[in-house]
Amino acid sequence: MPTESAQNYDPTKGRKFIFVTGGVMSGLGKGITAASTGRLLANAGFDVTAVKIDPYLNVDAGTMNPYQHGEVYVLKDGGEVDLDLGNYERFLDIDMTFDHNVTTGKVYQEVIERERSGDYLGKTVQIIPHITDDIKRRIREAAEGHDVCIVEVGGTVGDIEGMPFLEALRQFAHEQDEDDILFTHVTLVPYSKNGEQKTKPTQHSVKELRSIGLQPDILVGRCEDKLHPDVKEKIALFCDVPTEAVFSNPDVEDIYHVPLMVEEEGLDQYVMERLDLAEEALPEDERDNRWRNLVTQETTGEIDIALVGKYGLEDAYISIHESLKHAGLEAGVDVNPIWVHSEELADGYDGELDDVDGVVVPGGFGSRGIEGKIEAVRYARENDLPYLGLCLGFQMAVVEFARNVLGLDDAHSAEIEPETSHPIIDLLPEQYDLEDMGGTMRLGAHETDIDEGTVAHEIYGDTSCTERHRHRYEVNPEYIDDLEEAGLRFSGHTNNRMEILELPDHPYFVGTQFHPEFRSRPGRASPPFVGLLEAILDGDDARGRTEEEVEA
Ligand code: GLN
Repeated sequence: MPTESAQNYDPTKGRKFIFVTGGVMSGLGKGITAASTGRLLANAGFDVTAVKIDPYLNVDAGTMNPYQHGEVYVLKDGGEVDLDLGNYERFLDIDMTFDHNVTTGKVYQEVIERERSGDYLGKTVQIIPHITDDIKRRIREAAEGHDVCIVEVGGTVGDIEGMPFLEALRQFAHEQDEDDILFTHVTLVPYSKNGEQKTKPTQHSVKELRSIGLQPDILVGRCEDKLHPDVKEKIALFCDVPTEAVFSNPDVEDIYHVPLMVEEEGLDQYVMERLDLAEEALPEDERDNRWRNLVTQETTGEIDIALVGKYGLEDAYISIHESLKHAGLEAGVDVNPIWVHSEELADGYDGELDDVDGVVVPGGFGSRGIEGKIEAVRYARENDLPYLGLCLGFQMAVVEFARNVLGLDDAHSAEIEPETSHPIIDLLPEQYDLEDMGGTMRLGAHETDIDEGTVAHEIYGDTSCTERHRHRYEVNPEYIDDLEEAGLRFSGHTNNRMEILELPDHPYFVGTQFHPEFRSRPGRASPPFVGLLEAILDGDDARGRTEEEVEA
């Protein structure tokens, strides 16, 4: 008897799936490899989407600590997801939804809820078929309406948590036409001490895959350099794939060059042939080459931007790094993000920002390093150093202004100092009741009205913008008049929520309650980031350096 999901599925739709697993160790960049392949398929005219499977028990990434797990990425529908979805959105230039991140927690929650409501009619509820059916259903639903769906399984083959997902993929492939599915396995090919590329880890990891009934169609070897032809042959022989199905994925300096490398290796062409898509693909001279042009263009200078945060981990602020890069591509400069630990500034300014061209204070939660962030804001405001504050960085710009310009010495956010006599940042009155019920975070895309004739209006070129949010606290409406009279301008708002702030007499001092970094893409850089770089490049910078000096 076909399984429940198979009954509802029409295989004649001919949707194509690329399943991506990883071997040997995690963190090999299989997501980037997969996203790069997707980019090339999109360049060839296909509508590509992606699903990221995270075998952890968390229902979503919302509760996960960025220090351990990297940034929590926010989708337009408010889904709090793994940062890999950000890579897919950026590489494929698509907007995904919460259903595109499948976790063990989500799947079990659904199945257990259905069991409780009696949906299984007295049957024993089991991993096979109930959990696996739910996994298959989620993949099919996410793929609906697209030509190709890339499904990346997080973790490494052999992890206990990943087993139900791999079993679901095995069944999925069994239910589908052979040329609709491609299993790609990304592994590590390390060098031995005497400089040999070693294939044994790959062999073992493929053996592991085969022991659960999965035979890879394509193997991608992550290595410092390209795989030697003999090494490819050896892998092919021992892992039972054609030699043409073994690809190198050497280290590159910039992840945006991975699509170019994948193309050079011919991976995209091979994928199209195996999936029977080659004839539908645009001819090579008609393919979209905007990505290539963008990432290979010449840059004419360098800009150093301090990122004043509490996590010394690039992944914790990955979307901000990427946004700076996109803005750099648009402005034709390289941007070096320079991480400054907020705690270093906590005891007062001591030259930490002397050598940078601009400052970004990112989002965050909790009190660690908060005084350092406020100090960075003060320094940037008083010294005409271009500043961009994101979410918490917006809130701390308001707190700093209240303290040092309005003279409200103990002004603070009620999140951090509940006893402050000036809760400049607070829950809105209507949120207090909700607070008792939990789930108060304002998430996802919301529209902001922008006042004409402001910096915000200039950078967005519009009287509104729709950006993604992830916060609980707001500017306290009771203080808005005083703040504005003293010179702080709220140039973007949604009803009584303040969304964008700026200082009219400063070269660039902008804060956003939202997170513009989640919508920034190569070729469609985020306006507040572009504004920051343009202000820096705009003639003499605030510190009296000429454009040439800044660029030098
Ligand atoms: N902690 C702040 C709030 O909840 C800011 C959140 C953030 O920066 N993402 O409002």
